[in-house]
Amino acid sequence: MDDGGEVKTMSNWKVNLYRPRIGPAEADAVAAVLRSGWLSAGAVTRQFEEAFADAAGVDDAIAVSSGTAALQLAVQALGIGPGDEVIMPSLSFVAGASMVALSGAAPVFAEVNGADDLSMSATDVAARITERTRAIITMHYGGYASALPALADLARRHGLALIEDSAHAPATMSEYGRLGTIGDVGCYSFFATKNLAVGEGGMVVARSPELRDRIRRLRSHALTVDAQARHRGSPSSYDVDGFGFNHRPNEVTSAIGLAQLNALASGQRRRQEIVQDYRRGLADLAGIGIPYLTRDVEHSAHHLFPIILPTEAVRAEFQNRLAEAGIQSGIHYPPSHLFTAYQQRFGYRAGSLPVTEDVCSHQVSLPLYVDLSPVEVELVIAAVRQAWGAM
Ligand SMILES: *Cc1c(COP(=O)(O)O)cnc(C)c1O
Repeated sequence: MDDGGEVKTMSNWKVNLYRPRIGPAEADAVAAVLRSGWLSAGAVTRQFEEAFADAAGVDDAIAVSSGTAALQLAVQALGIGPGDEVIMPSLSFVAGASMVALSGAAPVFAEVNGADDLSMSATDVAARITERTRAIITMHYGGYASALPALADLARRHGLALIEDSAHAPATMSEYGRLGTIGDVGCYSFFATKNLAVGEGGMVVARSPELRDRIRRLRSHALTVDAQARHRGSPSSYDVDGFGFNHRPNEVTSAIGLAQLNALASGQRRRQEIVQDYRRGLADLAGIGIPYLTRDVEHSAHHLFPIILPTEAVRAEFQNRLAEAGIQSGIHYPPSHLFTAYQQRFGYRAGSLPVTEDVCSHQVSLPLYVDLSPVEVELVIAAVRQAWGAM
């Protein structure tokens, strides 16, 4: 799980790293689904897809069972497979890399920009393009837009697909437009820690109607049931024109998603306030880096509040001191290229991506969620100042 490796249970902390906001709207929506007797993907799921497409400013969206399922459908629908390479950041949750590896293609990890901007460097991506490259997966770290204009330009010039891993940025208006809708495919996650949280869930959007159609089919066993019903008037029979998954969501999670979507915009405003409080409260701490400080606070989903400490040893000590003060912190993320499976299969080593390794070993995430109270924000700021002062 990308839970930042926390060890204590929820009740032990004064301030948790995450807490989903679940209220009466979610409870009522779930109860209505249960009373309806229809549990598998149906009318509520379709409603969720339409509402999400609206919020993201696109024609249509495809609800799926997780963000990982969304990424797998994107990779499969684009026809990526053995012999292909896909360039992506190592500093991300490992799901995208795993889906590329499972397709038979090779993940090619690119560096991040640096300690001020934790998303992938377009310059480094350009240097890693080969004749085998088929796609670029970019990730909008913490809800901030990655280098989209430059990456879209590279993709266009080299005939590559651009996939946006927008797990951190649902329906987020960035400097460049809504995140997830600028490349060829956008993938979103509704895992319990994400801004739009249903427990397990996700969404895919795609620019081309043909690609959308392919994704929708692959979500459900590549059945051609719709075409069958249209052409022969016989919906009880069907054909299978590919090798598909069952990556459908269900009505319970879709109902939660609809309720969460209604509260997303107000939640974003609360997240912005918290980030402004953190920036103000920590600005004078020389030695603690705050990434994205020059970015307009309006243009991020603020999924994470990352800070950068001087060394790995200092980070460990700092996180211990925060824990002693009852403040849970996290790490986003350990670099994917150094996981055992990636070292063994793809030959990565410590030192393969020095900028990424440096940033990853110094990064800490502070609590950031809609229900974080002003008192809790002050507790975190005070704990950080005290922990830093004592180092
Ligand atoms: C959460 C996350 C995923 C995976 O989403 P799931 O819904 O947990 O499968 C993929 N990429 C990133 C960047 C994420 O944060």
